[in-house]
Amino acid sequence: MAVATNEISTGRVGRRPAQRTIARLSIAAAIGVAFSLVAGCDRPAPEGAKRRDIYLLLVDTLRADHLSLYGYGRPTSPNLDRFAESATVFEHVVAPASWTLPSVASVLTGLYPSAHGLRARAHAEDMTAMRPAVKTLAGVLASEGYRTVAVITNPWLINEEHGLARGFEEYLRLPTVNAPRVNDLARDIISRSDPRPLFLYLHYMDPHGPFDRHPASDSAALGPLPAASDRRLTTQERLSMPEYLRLPGKADLGSYIEAYDGAIRAWDQSFGDLIAWLDTRTSRPAPLIAVVADHGEEFTEHGGWNHGETLYEEQLFVPWVLRLPGRPPRRVSDRVVSLIDVAPTLVAAVELPIAKTMVGSDVLADDFDPDRPVFAETDVRLGGIRDPRFAQRAVRRGETKHIEKPSGPECYDLADDRSERRSSCAEVSWHERAVTDIERWSRENRELADLLGAAEAVSLDEEQRERLRSIGYLD
Ligand SMILES: [Zn+2]
Repeated sequence: MAVATNEISTGRVGRRPAQRTIARLSIAAAIGVAFSLVAGCDRPAPEGAKRRDIYLLLVDTLRADHLSLYGYGRPTSPNLDRFAESATVFEHVVAPASWTLPSVASVLTGLYPSAHGLRARAHAEDMTAMRPAVKTLAGVLASEGYRTVAVITNPWLINEEHGLARGFEEYLRLPTVNAPRVNDLARDIISRSDPRPLFLYLHYMDPHGPFDRHPASDSAALGPLPAASDRRLTTQERLSMPEYLRLPGKADLGSYIEAYDGAIRAWDQSFGDLIAWLDTRTSRPAPLIAVVADHGEEFTEHGGWNHGETLYEEQLFVPWVLRLPGRPPRRVSDRVVSLIDVAPTLVAAVELPIAKTMVGSDVLADDFDPDRPVFAETDVRLGGIRDPRFAQRAVRRGETKHIEKPSGPECYDLADDRSERRSSCAEVSWHERAVTDIERWSRENRELADLLGAAEAVSLDEEQRERLRSIGYLD
């Protein structure tokens, strides 16, 4: 079970992050990110706050619509499906960005990427770190007495200069490995004798390419492929595929779907093993467990591959399953939630005050506004081999979705057009409001960013670049 120590590097950062008097943010009901500057300190924790262990499991590159839990036609997630029978499942979840670094930072801070500052433009040379006054979920929990541990497997998250390690007592870095190795380490961490509650962040890379690093898919268990994937790739599709995703000798779409679905199923098997092990442990109160993904993956739905360069549903629609011990299972379909809501919701679930810098909401609160707009952004061109489709912003209200692209605006009604084929900005009544929402959100993000301090430039060394190349992020 022990993981070879030469594969782990440990970053210890402050056990109790420095307390700052920071801007106090109040969230305007209309848009969710407006704020006012009022000097003040965080509220003290309420009496009797529960201090359950919190496990945050983030599966990189896991699109929700390829999970049987979310209605996919293949049984990719039988263990997650079973887990969800005692959990809350959010049906409409939007990632705030379509690639790892900004999206994970949003999960861990409750902020949109332009506010927390962790993003890149035009390859990785022009990267910035998290703004100095941003409070992280780990920092909030550490200041409340939690032991905070992260197990990191994505090369983007390794560089401590980015700021994602803030608030983690232990920041354990593994090379890109699959779930069984992550879970071996998780069992070691969970089994340690420590009276403090544990916040454990586990980052899984299984569904992330390259796909040929996965064990062969169990095709028999998964059954037939979706009919639409039974075709040869066009020349354009073959040429536009990033090199790292290429499967030797495979020129049909089905081979790529098979590899991806198989990787999901492999993750799910390991997840089931971990949950079964956790469910036998009775020495501590049952943990609160959240399962999310940072973004999805495109398989030519809009002419491309990979992730990061568009804001369509195949890249933004991610799962969020939350097991809150003692709460009855439910499926939440009456609200659109964002990954910026994960940190506030987890903090609220253990009855701690939500950090004032977090603009996300507790999505289970009685006063949650179901008509709140939710946003996404991207401004990168990964790999440098595709059309310059970067600098995009999107807003979603209910089933309406508006995307601002360099080529012009697009408007979709997801209730009728889930695959975003028929843009109709000239015909819909809500287009103007969506434009106003984005303008207001952008302005408020800029103002918030000013309050949170200047994001410092981050440079990558050659080893980091090589790691990023191996999963397709750099040429
Ligand atoms: Zn990712």
